[in-house]
Amino acid sequence: MVIVEANRIQAVDRRTALEPHLRERGASISMRDLGGRWLMPGLMDMHVHLSLALPGPAQLAARLETDMAVTLRAYRNALDGLQAGVTFMRTLGDARFVDLELKRAINAGQVTGPRLFCAGQAVIITGGHGFGSGASLEADGADGFRQAVRRQLRAGADVIKIAITGGIAGEYEQIRDSQATYAEMEAACQAAHNAGRRITAHAGSAVAISSGVRAGLDCVEHGYFLDQPTVDLMSDRSVYLVPTLSVSRAEDYMRRIGCPQWMIDKSLRAGDEHMRSFQLALASGVPMAMGTDMLPADPYDGTLAVYREVEWMVEGGMPEMAALRAATFSAAELCGVQADLGSISTGKLADLVAMPANPLEDIRALRGIDFVVKDGAVVRDGCN
Ligand SMILES: [Zn+2]
Repeated sequence: MVIVEANRIQAVDRRTALEPHLRERGASISMRDLGGRWLMPGLMDMHVHLSLALPGPAQLAARLETDMAVTLRAYRNALDGLQAGVTFMRTLGDARFVDLELKRAINAGQVTGPRLFCAGQAVIITGGHGFGSGASLEADGADGFRQAVRRQLRAGADVIKIAITGGIAGEYEQIRDSQATYAEMEAACQAAHNAGRRITAHAGSAVAISSGVRAGLDCVEHGYFLDQPTVDLMSDRSVYLVPTLSVSRAEDYMRRIGCPQWMIDKSLRAGDEHMRSFQLALASGVPMAMGTDMLPADPYDGTLAVYREVEWMVEGGMPEMAALRAATFSAAELCGVQADLGSISTGKLADLVAMPANPLEDIRALRGIDFVVKDGAVVRDGCN
């Protein structure tokens, strides 16, 4: 039994142990029987773009989109994710600061949505990874990077995202291409850390990641091509990996949304080494958190992206409990919000999901999530 008062968890125990609590509160209490469901903390997705527009028709359409249209699209994407059980999203690059505006509206109670932890725009070199998506800001040189990071801070960013190598979704770049220089990375890290924010990087190659970690990165996205010295360095410095395994094994998804062939080829070519890199990091004790780099509620592989990403982590060798932690408590630690979120314990904010089967026995049980509480309020209730 979990007792929630307003938006906080007041007590967690067997019902018999909580009888005095219940008697004390008497008629004021409203009980919700979940019918034997499995309860866990709300899912936390560490890599979301609410205004996501991948190369192809989506990106072309986004170039003509008005501010109002992008706002509504991002809002709908956030709400769909919440309904799927993602009560917290770390956004890592969105157009026109729509993530930050949406966060303000959600926090002010104007609209229902997940908790958002936002990067604003991703900071990239001229023509770097993500240019043309509308979700990035080009800058060059240490001063340029410093200023671009400060622009995100000025807009209210909670975390800073830079791109230090090429990636899948760029026609004129390879995943292994080094992009940001050491001086640019170091300036960005300093500007973030001076403001008490953490900084993460879109990063593909071991050489760039080693350099980025030395420059001060707190977290690495994707990590397509890692090697032993790099994962050892990450592990020693407690630098997180958000592996986003889905992005290199999503051919049907990319075809459906009309991504160009060069992007599909590049994604699939990276798939095997991406998975091996994840396994190397796992074996070497690199802290990890779950991120989709798709919309959490995007239909993918017969289910939704957020559930499938957790399943990929388990298929790659991560024990079920560790994968659930990567999607909850470890993610909360990555964002520095573990005092309030990430577990079902007394004093924490009440973000909860429930499902009919046990995800520790079969991780695909997450697909059955049909009950969602965010900030103490039931936002989806399928237990009837
Ligand atoms: Zn991304």
